[in-house]
Amino acid sequence: MKELSSDISGLLVVVSAPSGTGKTTICKEVLKIVPELRFSISCTTREPRKGEKDGRDYHFISREEFEERISGGDFIEWAENHGHLYGTLKKDVESLVKEGHDVLFDVDPRGAKKLKSQYNNAVFVFILPPSIDILKERLKKRGSEKDAVMKARFERAFKEIREVVWYDYAIFNDIIDESVDVLKSIYKAEKNRRERLTKRITNIIG
Ligand code: ADP
Ligand code: 5GP
Repeated sequence: MKELSSDISGLLVVVSAPSGTGKTTICKEVLKIVPELRFSISCTTREPRKGEKDGRDYHFISREEFEERISGGDFIEWAENHGHLYGTLKKDVESLVKEGHDVLFDVDPRGAKKLKSQYNNAVFVFILPPSIDILKERLKKRGSEKDAVMKARFERAFKEIREVVWYDYAIFNDIIDESVDVLKSIYKAEKNRRERLTKRITNIIG
């Protein structure tokens, strides 16, 4: 895997959550209200769900193409989830940052860890369900998968939740609007970290 250049200036916000927690819903809302923040569109070999669009939600590609891209070193990170491959394209992230945007990532904890090892300025946010029973309900409500797949996602969710311990922030997704508000607030607060404003501060105090 290729490294992104370390002189990255944009803020990278990395969000993880067990499947069904509400991460996609929250991220979409935040992206609507924070124009400086752009979504890192991952590649995946899974089929699009109802309502998902190629090039907006994911780049839906074949396993063959994905494997070629792995060989070509195109991904910053990639992982296999539920039999499908998911990966973050280096080129896409680099061009977003070059254009002056901040970038929101929706990746699993393995991908997040890889990003953490490369960008120590990135911010890591874990979204939690209000309870395990509610997580089950939300997965069912989404209703996009067969029972066996849903069961596998659910078992995996248990394991993933333990990863919360190394993230910077945790959001309990009790009420969607509040979760959106908290994620937006995290972004705003991080943008105003004193060390991110060094240039502007230096201009004033010399
Ligand atoms: P994820 O991206 O984490 O897999 P989704 O965003 O697809 O999860 O949400 C799963 C389901 O739960 C969807 O039907 C969504 O509308 C619902 N949902 C998300 N957040 C909440 C919430 N706070 N309260 C009730 N339902 C929610
Ligand atoms: P879903 O199929 O529900 O969209 O995503 C399944 C899991 O894959 C989620 O945990 C999601 O965060 C993760 N995921 C999506 N894109 C990427 C990616 O580019 N890299 C990694 N490592 N995980 C991803």
